[in-house]
Amino acid sequence: MVLRHSDADGLARHRDHMAAHYDEQMELLETAETRARVPSLRYYQSLYSPGGFHIHPLRYALKLAEQAAKAGVAIHESTKALAIGRDGSGFEVMTAAGRVRAAYVLVCVSALDRSLHRPTGRAILPVATYVAVTAAGAGAFIPARHSVSDTRRAGNYFRVVDENRLLWGGAITTRVSEPLLLALRMKRDMVSVFPQLGDPSIEHAWAGIMGYSRHKMPLIGRDRDGVWYATAFGGHGLNTTAMAGLLMSRAITDGDDEYRRFGAYQPVWAGGPFGRAGVQGAYWWMQLKDRLDERRHTAD
Ligand SMILES: Cc1cc2nc3c(=O)[nH]c(=O)nc-3n(C[C@H](O)[C@H](O)[C@H](O)COP(=O)(O)OP(=O)(O)OC[C@H]3O[C@@H](n4cnc5c(N)ncnc54)[C@H](O)[C@@H]3O)c2cc1C
Repeated sequence: MVLRHSDADGLARHRDHMAAHYDEQMELLETAETRARVPSLRYYQSLYSPGGFHIHPLRYALKLAEQAAKAGVAIHESTKALAIGRDGSGFEVMTAAGRVRAAYVLVCVSALDRSLHRPTGRAILPVATYVAVTAAGAGAFIPARHSVSDTRRAGNYFRVVDENRLLWGGAITTRVSEPLLLALRMKRDMVSVFPQLGDPSIEHAWAGIMGYSRHKMPLIGRDRDGVWYATAFGGHGLNTTAMAGLLMSRAITDGDDEYRRFGAYQPVWAGGPFGRAGVQGAYWWMQLKDRLDERRHTAD
């Protein structure tokens, strides 16, 4: 976690808070040490988390699918659920090619389909964020192999991946259509931090859509018709989706009611277009505050 302005005291306070409240041990690196690892004049002090780790999400998803298949689960990839209806004491899920009968249905389509399940669909606000990856070799000058993020409210995150490609993420917007010239926009962003990149070639650039609830907590529970849902994980879905999966499987197979702890965070209308406008305004405000912070505290 790197700072884009100088504030060693603030970072030390954050380190102490994380140790006291979450037992998370982090090391404060001074500006010179930070820049030795991630050579950018944009960066000042940083917190290094030796216990932190990052994973390859596709490999994780494939492994989960493999384990599920071994346990007898049939996965119908690329089959869109069009509607969910009652079928006796169970359900049927309609698809273009046929129906699936099921004793239980768990909806987890997030922001990618807001009409399949109205109670959660109307409570989800789609938010886009972007990633780009350079051609091989471009990130070779960065010694750190850590996952790095800056501390801005709407910041960047990156990591040098296979063949020294720089994988770069950033920007957050409620505009979910992929902006034209996305690769160029991401290139400008990364070069503004690492001018050493020169004019890197961008091999892939893509937009991902996340689902947020108004209260920013995931929506986990069961609706009046008996349909289960686990959705709206926002930008921190890696650990929380796994947690929800466990809660849901225990609830469905063993009647465990621990999922009810999420009852305090019900699906509430996200405000439709007004919600989007409000959130976009909040993002612009956050970005403005980030810029002001940087200007105010930049030491050199
Ligand atoms: C660029 C980017 C970077 C991120 N980085 C991180 C990170 O570093 N750490 C972290 O914890 N989280 C991160 N996130 C957030 C994380 O990816 C999400 O929180 C997580 O993917 C949410 O999981 P989900 O299963 O609820 O939704 P999704 O991953 O959106 O999955 C929804 C699934 O539903 C399927 N679907 C949609 N409609 C239908 C339908 N009608 N019928 C059948 N299937 C359907 C879709 O194909 C999709 O597979 C990032 C997100 C983005 C976009």
